[in-house]
Amino acid sequence: MQVFAVCAPGAPAEEIELPTPELTGKQILIQVTHSGVCHSDVHLQEGAFDLGSAGELTFAAMGGKYPAVFGHEIVGTIAAAGPEASLQPGDTQYIVFPWIGCGECQACQEDRENYCPRGRNLGTMDIHGGFAREVLVPDEKYLIELGDLDPAWGATLACSGVTSYSAVNKVLPRGDDDIVAVIGAGGVGLMAVAMLKALGHKQIAVVDVSDENLESAKGLGATITFNSKASNPLEGFLAATGKKVAAVIDFVNNGGTSSLALGALQKGGKLVSVGLFGGEHTYPTAMLALQVFTIEGNFVGSLPELKALVELAKTKDLPVLPIAERPLDADNLNAALQDLAAGKSRGRTVLTA
Ligand SMILES: [Zn+2]
Ligand SMILES: [Zn+2]
Repeated sequence: MQVFAVCAPGAPAEEIELPTPELTGKQILIQVTHSGVCHSDVHLQEGAFDLGSAGELTFAAMGGKYPAVFGHEIVGTIAAAGPEASLQPGDTQYIVFPWIGCGECQACQEDRENYCPRGRNLGTMDIHGGFAREVLVPDEKYLIELGDLDPAWGATLACSGVTSYSAVNKVLPRGDDDIVAVIGAGGVGLMAVAMLKALGHKQIAVVDVSDENLESAKGLGATITFNSKASNPLEGFLAATGKKVAAVIDFVNNGGTSSLALGALQKGGKLVSVGLFGGEHTYPTAMLALQVFTIEGNFVGSLPELKALVELAKTKDLPVLPIAERPLDADNLNAALQDLAAGKSRGRTVLTA
């Protein structure tokens, strides 16, 4: 099968041929129709995540192997099914759940595969992902019918969508007067704003450094917006909200934004850290106790959460965020990764076969 593989840290993707696997059990071979390009693909292609003074987490240290086939926002049809699968080849399009665990640990038994310490996520380590003509899915249970959803947008639900959904679930429900703040109004953050609104939350504050992004956030339901390029962002933000906030979802999660988030939280507040922009900040530990804060990380979401999100998308009017479609090939993949790295992408990019 043809894949668009990265063969060394920082190298551009190139088209190579790999042996098509012999399917066993409930394995499914998906013919990729749509493959989203995510910011974490940029980090993976570069070969490392920035961990502040702890150095960097390299792709090799995460268990990654080359040639690597990234891409975890996959929609496609079934090209072939294993002997024990009930689903069969055809034209039906499926969203692929990529955050697959070992299947044996406590987290996996509880359907929280995104908490598995031995995750086998599609397109992130040694398991090949969606930057390919075909992708092997280890079990048919990871396929969710796309239905009438837009397939390019459907692809993004598996990553940015379920990440937003899972993060929003961690801060709701809240009272009508409680402010929930979203830091970072890129694609994932904007989706969170839309979900907070769709799930009935009233007070939504959004922080970003781009007035254009803040305008988009207002259109999706933000009631307060704040541009954090201001000289004293915390003071400015609290002036904009008029009071401290009940919860913050930080989709940037660098030293500056996490510092702003903890500074803005009311007593008993919760910070959900999502972004992978890297960095660190120091904070008086006693204040965590005195302020009764909760800090919770968020890494993508679980299979039940993706199913619930797809159901929400089918029944509620979630906004379809701007998506640029490009042909699925190595040149367009490399161009999309470069644009993302340079901050030139607006909305999401999805490669289309
Ligand atoms: Zn992603
Ligand atoms: Zn597991």
